[in-house]
Amino acid sequence: MIQAHYEKVKKACDEQARLCVVSKKRSKEEIMSYYDAGERIFGENHAQELLGKIDLPADIQWQFIGHLQRNKVKSIVPYVSCIQSLDSLELAKEIDKQCAKLNKTMDVLCEFHMADEDENKSGHDPADVDAFVKSCMQFAHLNVCGIMAMGPHTNDTERIRDVFMKTHALYVHLQSLYGASQIHTLSMGMSSDYEIALACGSNMVRVGTYLFKED
Ligand SMILES: *Cc1c(COP(=O)(O)O)cnc(C)c1O
Repeated sequence: MIQAHYEKVKKACDEQARLCVVSKKRSKEEIMSYYDAGERIFGENHAQELLGKIDLPADIQWQFIGHLQRNKVKSIVPYVSCIQSLDSLELAKEIDKQCAKLNKTMDVLCEFHMADEDENKSGHDPADVDAFVKSCMQFAHLNVCGIMAMGPHTNDTERIRDVFMKTHALYVHLQSLYGASQIHTLSMGMSSDYEIALACGSNMVRVGTYLFKED
């Protein structure tokens, strides 16, 4: 672990936000260094890679943060505590189906594509937020807890702030519809932009590179 970077991120999160340590491409030893420091929330973005790590301590809360193919849902649902990248109704339906078999309710975040200039589109169209979230709420084995979004790939901090403010507004809107006890997680901010995200109201940052690499 990079102690100085870890301390900086923890201090920034303070009481406001939870840290999701993004452990994709990291070894079990690297993950355990953060586990031993007290972290329990780890984010992975590939089903196969996640399945190779499930022998790590059982109290790790694995969060799935990458694009999830429907045919991979069955293999991961027993092991993950939250799917942050729910971006389609077809995916919601499959998660519900597989969770029903396990008698499990899955926490999910609806992922929206907020940075309209980025061509690498992941996430649902935010113009459809009300209908999409309402539909996701109908599934008995899904618990919709909030929103996940990524900032735009740019060095323009004003542009990043703009996107995060818009995402926060969407989050507040959903809270007004469903209540703040239902909609309680706004997952935004990565290594390059977590400080901006926190300033815009994020309460979960997903940080990988910065925690594992010297600059
Ligand atoms: C990789 C990834 C992160 C972490 O990115 P870093 O730049 O390594 O901090 C956060 N969120 C998602 C969805 C990711 O795929």
